[in-house]
Amino acid sequence: SLAKDNSTDDVNPDQRFKGHDMLAPFTAGWQTTDLDPLIIDKSEGSYVYDITGKKYLDPLAGLWCTALGGNEQRLIDAATAQLKKLPFYHSFWNRTTKPSLDLAKELLQFFTARKMAKAFFVNSGSEANDTQVKIVWYYNNALGRPNKKKFIARAKSYHGSTLIAASLSGLPALHQNFDLPAPFVLHTDCPHYWRYHLPGETEEEFSTRLANNLEELILKEGPDTIAAFIAEPVMGAGGVILPPSTYFEKIQAVVKKYDILFIADEVICAFGRLGTMFGCDKYNIKPDLVSLAKALSSAYMPIGAVLVSPEISEVIHSQSNKLGSFSHGFTYSGSPVPCAVAIETLKIYKETNIVEKVNKISPRFQDGLKAFSDSPIIGEIRGTGLILGTEFTDNKSPNDPFPPEWGVGAYFGAQCQKHGMLVRVAGDSIMMSPPYIITPEEVDELISIYGKALRETE
Ligand code: PLP
Repeated sequence: SLAKDNSTDDVNPDQRFKGHDMLAPFTAGWQTTDLDPLIIDKSEGSYVYDITGKKYLDPLAGLWCTALGGNEQRLIDAATAQLKKLPFYHSFWNRTTKPSLDLAKELLQFFTARKMAKAFFVNSGSEANDTQVKIVWYYNNALGRPNKKKFIARAKSYHGSTLIAASLSGLPALHQNFDLPAPFVLHTDCPHYWRYHLPGETEEEFSTRLANNLEELILKEGPDTIAAFIAEPVMGAGGVILPPSTYFEKIQAVVKKYDILFIADEVICAFGRLGTMFGCDKYNIKPDLVSLAKALSSAYMPIGAVLVSPEISEVIHSQSNKLGSFSHGFTYSGSPVPCAVAIETLKIYKETNIVEKVNKISPRFQDGLKAFSDSPIIGEIRGTGLILGTEFTDNKSPNDPFPPEWGVGAYFGAQCQKHGMLVRVAGDSIMMSPPYIITPEEVDELISIYGKALRETE
């Protein structure tokens, strides 16, 4: 491979550290030095191919995002047509483009968990969550509440990797060596019942305890200082963690009591992933703000969005009428090509009844994989719709992790890769979120490779 060509024995050892010319995201130094990177070259449906031509099933859908798989011609055509007509124009200063207006309208109709008034466009999930913080601060400044500025997020959450999104995230690796989290961010409990429930505690009791802990934190900090609570309906990168029974009902009651805004980070969950159009539909969440990205364009173009409630939008508009403008945005906010691709993506979701499609295929995926739950090295397999996590532990106990130096998760991931499948590995957690177009035969292949890799890891 390219990296191999760069790392022959006669290379100066000082230069070998480089491995290749990228400072690669979320890649450890040893991976860039000692291991050749896997270079992906093309995709086709639920598969990707590396530059040697080896074919891999892609049950993470890229990075939880290529919901319509590898070669959806309608998206390619939508991008091409828009590129030919108008590759770029911005949406600043009351100038804009038709695709951005059309997409905003369409998105507001798509989201039905409650009425939303406006869509603000960004390029990524991280920018969506950064934008959330600025909207919330602007809103509270406009309301004359300059002290109501703190955010509460949850341990193990992932909200992105810009300064603010990484601060909101509850994963220590995102904070270490970056002087984060920022002081306005507080973290409350991760709602992982299997790992954190007390002996004899039911899911409902666990949810009550977590809601009480949240209330205690709010009271300790002072309710007048807490602006918003942010949560993924199902936690993705933290290990696919589903909310326990009654969790969101109880959490929403607490945040409402103290006039704290609820931000739903739907970057992974939106557009059918959980077997409902949005995570908010599944868990009866009535958010004030919503973050979207990834499946919004099936990742064919980078685009994300923030949906804003009528109450917040009204305050922003009256304030910006006074101040002159809402001075936030990006060159590519509502850029026409990503918007055109997203419009076509939403059309496909509608026309193919994507929620029904996910619900038809997901039992095969969930039941097929959960059948491995008895494995002596698996602590928990958890999932819903087309998202699933596996956690390896000893003695089937959350309290008996394997020694990290054994690299159980990494070994399992490597066996999957050897057999032609790319899963997400984070420590001893394995994650999958296959594209919605995955066929029953491909699900069977996925289960068969998982089973082989599991036997080799046991
Ligand atoms: N929010 C959630 C829930 C995510 O899973 C991610 C990415 O995985 C993000 C935000 C950040 O999105 P991006 O990588 O597009 O910045």
